[in-house]
Parts: sequence; structure tokens; C-alpha cells
Amino acid sequence: MFRGSVRVGALFGVPIEVNASWLITLSLFVFLLGTAVYPSVLDGQPLWFYWTLAAVSGIFFFASIIIHELAHSLIARRSGIPVRAITLFMLGGVSQITRDARRPLIEFVMAIAGPLTSVALAGIFLGLAYAPGLRDNRTQVMWQWLFVMNLSLAIVNMAPGFPLDGGRVLRSALWGITGNFRKATQWASYVGRGLGYALIAAGMLVLVRVIPWFDPFSGVWFILVGLFIDNAARASWTRTRLLDDLRAHPASSVMQTVLPRIDPDLDLLQTMSRYYQPRYGLCAFVVDGDERVTGMVTDVELARVPRDRWPGVRAGVAMQPAAAIVTASPDADLASVLEQMEAAQQTQVPIVEDGRLTGWVSRARIVGIIMPQTAPGR
Ligand SMILES: [Zn+2]
Repeated sequence: MFRGSVRVGALFGVPIEVNASWLITLSLFVFLLGTAVYPSVLDGQPLWFYWTLAAVSGIFFFASIIIHELAHSLIARRSGIPVRAITLFMLGGVSQITRDARRPLIEFVMAIAGPLTSVALAGIFLGLAYAPGLRDNRTQVMWQWLFVMNLSLAIVNMAPGFPLDGGRVLRSALWGITGNFRKATQWASYVGRGLGYALIAAGMLVLVRVIPWFDPFSGVWFILVGLFIDNAARASWTRTRLLDDLRAHPASSVMQTVLPRIDPDLDLLQTMSRYYQPRYGLCAFVVDGDERVTGMVTDVELARVPRDRWPGVRAGVAMQPAAAIVTASPDADLASVLEQMEAAQQTQVPIVEDGRLTGWVSRARIVGIIMPQTAPGR
């Protein structure tokens, strides 16, 4: 979803990633503040002052979005749901929460935490704007801008279109009332798609100047946000339906039982040429002299080594050690296997029964059950 994201650090153990598209948004805000907004409300200042104030505003805005996402992420983690990362992209921030909550109340709290945090931040910035000493200061306009931005962030995110925060709140309410997660997701996605289409239509009207009180540039923005929401709402519903269908199948029903065991001294090129399956990717288990599994080599480990070095790297060195691998039991349902796999960023998962390796399942195989026509190449 976010190709070209760079990890810039971590907060409370949650990785923070910045996508290249976010830099466009950030520079646009800083540019507009430095050249238009600040010079128009605050005259008689040197040029460097406008630009410095704009840059500092950008940093605070960046921090505000991260704090909003952190609220979602920390509640998710507290509820036992792993968070892969917080990613900032063109339209704001996203917490990459690896699975849905198991209860409506948790989903509700997790969703509302973000907008509530933004409201709290807006309150702090409003306080700063009118604090003694800052009130008549030439930085006041920056605190006012940050107040407006955080309040807007809260309001926009509370729009009821799934998967926005407001849509998640709506889903948790429908889920709580009906007790049916699947139906609740479906209805919330419909509202999300409706909101997306409404935004696209509004954007077009702004572009052709039927709605005159926005500049045409905002029209493009509305259309982009509308497309994003429509797309995300559709994807979320597809995913929920897929996971729901997978819940009916145990891992044992699809696992491959021929276990590709390899010697730790086998090099990656040979491992690849012997055990790579075009449909399901690479999966080989490294075993020691007593036939005990010590690690696994899959596409993920293979991708870490440049292709021209495959003949020189041994499987025992490149492998993911057994202790670090997520495994599943044969009767685990496929939805939870898939979710675990995604949280651990594995493409394959070993199936273990009473401590004994009995098979393995690839991500592509699971997805292929539900959507045989769209099964990816690996
Ligand atoms: Zn949010």
C-alpha cells in the first residue's frame, strides 16, 4: 500500500515511517504558510521570520499527526493487537494495525482515541495562543493555525465513512447493536463509499466553479480524498469478507505435507532451484543432524541477499531461526493464521503439532482458496 516509505524512528516501540508523498503535503503547507498565510495576517516582518514560523508550524503539524496515530496504536497494542507501523503519506497518517478488534467496545475506544487526542491537542494550542506572554507575540498566529488544523483533523476524521475513524466508530456501534461483525462492516463500508462519491462529486463541482467558495486546487484535493476513501472502504469490506470465509477452514485443510528439509550448508542458489514453487514461493526448513528444525528459508530471507551472492551464502546463515518464527497448529482457522503471518511479516508459516513439524502453509495458498482467480504468483 505504501511503497517508498522510509523508517525515521520509533516511539514507544512503534516504528514511524514517512512516505515520499507526505513530503509533498508538508512542503505545500510550509510553502502556503510562508508565502501567503503568515505574510497576510502578520505584516511588517522580515522574510526569514515568515519562513521560520512556517517551518516550525510544519514540524508541530507533523508531530500532531503522529500523536493522533500513536493514540490509535497504543490502544491497539494494549488490547493485544500488534501494530506494524505508523505511516505518514499524502493524505495524513495511518496506523498499520494488523487485525480487527475482537469486541465492539475495543474497536470503539481504539477509533475514538485519535480524534479525541486531536481535540486535546487543539485545546493545548488554543491555550498557547492566548497564554500570557504569547498572546501579543508574533508567534500567536502559528498557535492559532495549529489549533485550527488539529480541530479540522478531529472533525474530518469523524466523518462516518469507513475506514475513517468516524466510520470505525459507526461500525463498532452497528456491531454492538446487531452482534454481526460482517454486516456491520458491510454497512459501514457502504456509508464510506457514499462519502467517497460525495467528495468526488463535490470536487468536480469545485473544479468547474459551480461551488465558488473554494479554489480549484481544493477540488483536486477533494477528488483525491474521495477516491482514497472509496477505494479503502471497498478494500476493507473485501478483506473482512475474505477473513470471514477463511474462518471456516482449518490450517490442516490446505497445508502442504511434503516437508522440504535442507542441510544448513546448502547454499541459497541450490535451495532456490530445488524448492522454489512458482505458485507458492520458496519454503525450506533447515534441519540439524538430529532432523530437528533450526530455521526456515523463505522468499523473505532470500530477498535480503542480493541475487549474485546466492551461491556463496549458506542456508544456515540466511535462515530465520526457529525461535523467531510464528507457527500455527493444524486446527487453527485460516483467518487467524493469515493475520499472524501478516503481523510477523512471514510469507509462509510452519504447522506444528505437539512440537512436531507436520506441514506448512503459504500466504498465496490461503488467499488462493478464497480467490482462486486472483491468486498471486507467490
Ligand atoms: Zn485517526
